[in-house]
Amino acid sequence: MHFTEAGDNVLMPGVIDPHVHINEPGRTEWEGFDTATKAAIAGGVTCLVDMPLNASPVTTTVQAFDEKLAAAKNKLHCHCGFWGGLIPGNDQQIAPLAGKGVLGFKAFLTHSGIDEFPNVTEPDLHKAMPVMAALGLPLLVHCELSSPHEKEIMANKRSYHDYLLSRPPTWEDDAIALMIGLCRQYGCRIHIVHLSSAGSIQQIKEARQEGLPITVETGQHYLYFAAEQIADGQTAFKCAPPIRQKTNNDQLWDALKLGVIDLVATDHSPSIPALKELQSGDFSKAWGGIASIQFALPALWTVAKQHSTGLTAVAKWLCEAPATLIGKAASKGRIAAGFDADLVIWNPEQSFLVNESIIQHKHTITPYLNERLWGTVTQTWLGGKKVFDNNLVTQLNQGKIIVR
Ligand SMILES: [Zn+2]
Repeated sequence: MHFTEAGDNVLMPGVIDPHVHINEPGRTEWEGFDTATKAAIAGGVTCLVDMPLNASPVTTTVQAFDEKLAAAKNKLHCHCGFWGGLIPGNDQQIAPLAGKGVLGFKAFLTHSGIDEFPNVTEPDLHKAMPVMAALGLPLLVHCELSSPHEKEIMANKRSYHDYLLSRPPTWEDDAIALMIGLCRQYGCRIHIVHLSSAGSIQQIKEARQEGLPITVETGQHYLYFAAEQIADGQTAFKCAPPIRQKTNNDQLWDALKLGVIDLVATDHSPSIPALKELQSGDFSKAWGGIASIQFALPALWTVAKQHSTGLTAVAKWLCEAPATLIGKAASKGRIAAGFDADLVIWNPEQSFLVNESIIQHKHTITPYLNERLWGTVTQTWLGGKKVFDNNLVTQLNQGKIIVR
């Protein structure tokens, strides 16, 4: 037996990020398993779950899932699970995908940004939700419901203000109301991904008081940034739903503290630099997605410090609650006898500047560039093995595929 001295650093369960777009196979030039999982361990993330888009093929069939698993082979530097995709017409794939080990399913209620992953409508959900309820798997939903009468109109395509107007909070609020009703009807577990509209907090609170099986996530960037600080043309900040005003975001923080929001996940979603339209600054054309998995822990900790919130809450939002979402509450997300020794050792009293030289993502575009974040990761451990130590990856390929 050997011991590791952590000194005054914090020893915490490894971060579990249940919302990551790796894009391999098919769009590996956007982000791949190798770079994404290296960035993960550099940031203290020991387990992530890959979204069923934007790889090609999208993970909506068993065959596509097999391709995904083959693509991940020998490239996992942290543990990795997978969500299956629900699209119109693939309800026959739900049970077989579950049988192969996906941890749940993801669906969109508005255009996903990827044509081969079309959004579902109510009839699709009526077919799928009883099946998922029977399987006991969560349905993750991108909750934005664009009314057929509304169009994404942007008078000035470089204006962040106009981008905000083009995706109003009512889109989120209407979508969440729809999902609450369907959850009540079918008893299917619902997980609302990346909540941005504070306008929905009350209806979520009431639905949970009613006992409906609904969980909610928000993203680090909805808490760390605010619309007021985003200048026109700064498309690195483009994501959907959009980053809203500070008063809205402060309410998200309060909801997190009250437990109405369960967890925080990055929605790491990079693209090739050209698609971010940094030169044109055109919000209508730019890829909507923020690259940030490496900064999951320090970005949230920086906000927590501003609000005088302690480490226990952060560990609950980044480790314990995501472990429950992915069905691994009995083996991950806590430091306890019999649990997996996936750990992060980090210094909450030390800050660092995000610059291009430290970013391990495939591309360095991120709105966190030049931000000073609190919380430096000194070591990351995976299954009792040290895989990252003082800015160096010490062991590769220690990640395992996580199945249900
Ligand atoms: Zn996403």
